[in-house]
Amino acid sequence: WKNAPPHMAALVRLSRTHGAALATIHDDERVTFEAQFRAIAALAAHYRALGVQKGDRVAVAARNLPEWIVAFFAATTIGAIAVPLNAWWTAEELCYGLADSGAVLLVADDERWQRVAPHRGDLPDLRHVIVARAATPLEGAERIEDVIGTPHDWASLPDRDLPDTDLSPEDEATILYTSGTTGKPKGALATHRNFMTNILSSGYAAARSILRSGQPLPDPVRKVSLTVIPLFHATALSAGLMGAMAAGHTNIFMRKFEALRAMEIIEREKVNVTGGVPTIAWQILEHPERHRYDLSSLESVGYGGAPSAPELVRKIAAELKAAPGNGWGMTETTATVTTHSGEDYLNRPDSCGPPVAVADLQIRAEDGVTVLPTGQIGELWARGPMIVKGYWNKPEASAATFVDGWVRTGDLARLDEEGFCFILDRAKDMVIRGGENIYSTEVENVLYDHPAVTDCALIGLPHRILGEEPAAVVHLAPGAEASEAELQDWVRARLAAFKVPVAIRFAADMLPRNANGKILKRDLKTLFEDRIAA
Ligand code: ATP
Ligand code: MG
Repeated sequence: WKNAPPHMAALVRLSRTHGAALATIHDDERVTFEAQFRAIAALAAHYRALGVQKGDRVAVAARNLPEWIVAFFAATTIGAIAVPLNAWWTAEELCYGLADSGAVLLVADDERWQRVAPHRGDLPDLRHVIVARAATPLEGAERIEDVIGTPHDWASLPDRDLPDTDLSPEDEATILYTSGTTGKPKGALATHRNFMTNILSSGYAAARSILRSGQPLPDPVRKVSLTVIPLFHATALSAGLMGAMAAGHTNIFMRKFEALRAMEIIEREKVNVTGGVPTIAWQILEHPERHRYDLSSLESVGYGGAPSAPELVRKIAAELKAAPGNGWGMTETTATVTTHSGEDYLNRPDSCGPPVAVADLQIRAEDGVTVLPTGQIGELWARGPMIVKGYWNKPEASAATFVDGWVRTGDLARLDEEGFCFILDRAKDMVIRGGENIYSTEVENVLYDHPAVTDCALIGLPHRILGEEPAAVVHLAPGAEASEAELQDWVRARLAAFKVPVAIRFAADMLPRNANGKILKRDLKTLFEDRIAA
């Protein structure tokens, strides 16, 4: 441990050894690992000068910019707790995150600052604000350019080390908010060790999938990753960004995901890795102009965070000639708990893989105590060094979710003989029709198999006698046609009659998702208001 203890100051120092290799590309800004290190060291010294202490919260609210990374690591390397806020949040939600975490310093891009500025008076803890890419004059805030310059200047910042800090692996590193899919977002309090464990176990898991297929491991060359999911989400932060810093890979950021622009970048920068969430892979695969682009540099397209159709796995392998990958995790686990890729995934396209080497999984009954035998469906519980300490400021929710070192996930799943995990639904989303359980993914995967369907969601509608009944919202591929009755017949031919959606509504576009690629099922219910009222 002497030279590389499992904490972020060590990771940031390690990343410097990649020197002139590119850490990030963002439009015409190409930032090397050395330049990134110098910017982090300079900003960390500035935080110190502002009086930021160990344990203080430093919020970062920006889209994926090179400054995001610098602001984040400047905080964690001096022992402050970084609080990445969701850049999609409204003024009110951003203020909730700032007040809930009690942040003393906010680093924001111009757009986020414009949202928060009018409410600053309501945030007594917030002493300092640093703004990146400010378009207008600032009042009561500094410009990051005045402290460390723009990304173009970072390579010529003075050569200095990180400020001295007494940092240990069990120190708190981040508060990451959950996606808010099922309620108000909760801040998950993670340690330095939580993140470092992830880097190690993801690397081992990737190697394990390749070895199981009997193929040799590839040479450890530098990879280029197109990172289109937000850094404020655990997956991008831990598996994407920190993994890349350890290995010397390059991350390319886009302002907003657009399939056409993504394909241009993949061709031009010879991108090897992309994905993040399943919908990104779909949008590239379905794009009418895909064949105009050379996407042959792509080696792997992996994702997690939301259910994905088995159909997608086969398409990635067949049409993109890339290794598909899937991983399961939650904010409460700082990212990956199960993962697999390539042949393992093709052989079990509805699984999110076995647990990583340092994690244990159990399927428990509703009582939260009885462990169910292999193959049975129940609630997934997980344990391992990546599980966070608890929720920030929420002792009751923490006590209910974190029990004896295990996290109660709220997901319904089963494990097979070899330990592969199959997620069936969130317990909150499962439809119970007259006592019969209907798991969303089961019906969704059948709908996805219909050639006309590219996106769908199963939801439960209230029913006076049955309690609930299943309904679906689907989006059809451009130019494709299918009627409600045809899709119902399609499901009826493949699943038990009680699982057939009683109504199917058609959406003109891909279904609306939150910043982390999750469909907000509660919002879809409004499409059936006429039915619910009747
Ligand atoms: P909130 O907890 O605030 O309601 P959330 O659960 O969506 O929001 P996250 O922590 O971002 O917030 O998401 C974790 C959830 O995402 C898991 O509990 C699971 O339901 C889903 N998920 C993650 N990975 C996968 C996967 N590979 N397949 C299916 N579902 C997944
Ligand atoms: Mg959750």
